[in-house]
Amino acid sequence: MAKFAVGNVSVERGQIGFGVLTTAYLPDSTAVNIPLIVVHGSADGPVLWLGAAMHGPEITGTEVIRRIAREVVDPVKLRGTIIASPLMNPFAYQQHQMVAPQDGYNMNRVFPGQANGLLTHRLAYQVLHAGVEHADFLIDYHANPTPAIMFAIVRNQPPDVGAKAMAMANAYGITTIQLKLENEPHRSGTLSDAAHAVGKPSITIELLAWRRMLEDSVRSGVRGTLNVMKHLGMLDGETEPQTDVPVIKGNLSRVETTANKGGFVHMLHDAGDAVHKGEVLAHIVNPYGDLVEEVASPVDGWILAYPLLNSQCVATGDFVNFLAYRI
Ligand SMILES: [Zn+2]
Repeated sequence: MAKFAVGNVSVERGQIGFGVLTTAYLPDSTAVNIPLIVVHGSADGPVLWLGAAMHGPEITGTEVIRRIAREVVDPVKLRGTIIASPLMNPFAYQQHQMVAPQDGYNMNRVFPGQANGLLTHRLAYQVLHAGVEHADFLIDYHANPTPAIMFAIVRNQPPDVGAKAMAMANAYGITTIQLKLENEPHRSGTLSDAAHAVGKPSITIELLAWRRMLEDSVRSGVRGTLNVMKHLGMLDGETEPQTDVPVIKGNLSRVETTANKGGFVHMLHDAGDAVHKGEVLAHIVNPYGDLVEEVASPVDGWILAYPLLNSQCVATGDFVNFLAYRI
């Protein structure tokens, strides 16, 4: 293919192009656009979608994309094409929030979206049908607040697509969590689910942190992304190990702890620590300082994160831990 076209971008071989997907309009008729960067290689190869900031506080992937597209990858030496979407949810991004304030929906729970639905459903539909449909493989960058270690998430359904996604995650090189939807039914409707349903292998990368771009995380993100591109044959060279970040090896899945009582969380471990089933991971104390709950590990495993998303004060049902365990 000589020219590559997506959104309003049209790029010649060996060139980089910039443009938008127009997604919605504000009450004053201003268009709201998702920015697109397209790096179209000189030679044929796979088309890789790189998407970031579907959740507004998770901006580290935006910087990973900037370095990949603007500094590291030379389109003349690239086989295939990168479609990069550095801000997939402009409404959540503008408010630095997980969800679009206009409708309160979490974009990564509403895929494949709806063409004529509410705002977030339309965003998801357009990302999938006007953007991702041009790609063969996907990396979707998210982030956890610290303390956390970085990890990749792979949906292993359907099995043939899941196996290709696992190979991408192995090349990326950090801790990899295999998730079955039946174990986390509250996480249906992700971009990876929608991509896998149409045969496009996809990995979700949980970087660090919220509302900050941590340099170690950005560097790991760039290295991992280049590793995936080498694995897919888009770039020459050997994959580089992720030796300077914590990596838990082996076949792992994830379980969560959530708060029963409300209060202030005292974290008793660090992210990356190995813990035993029944070991207390956190104390929750009330405003008088009394211990109201001990949060214990449901597994022998490792602490991936204390994803205290809103505050170190939690209410019933809020996440306290993400934990990895061997499968
Ligand atoms: Zn996210």
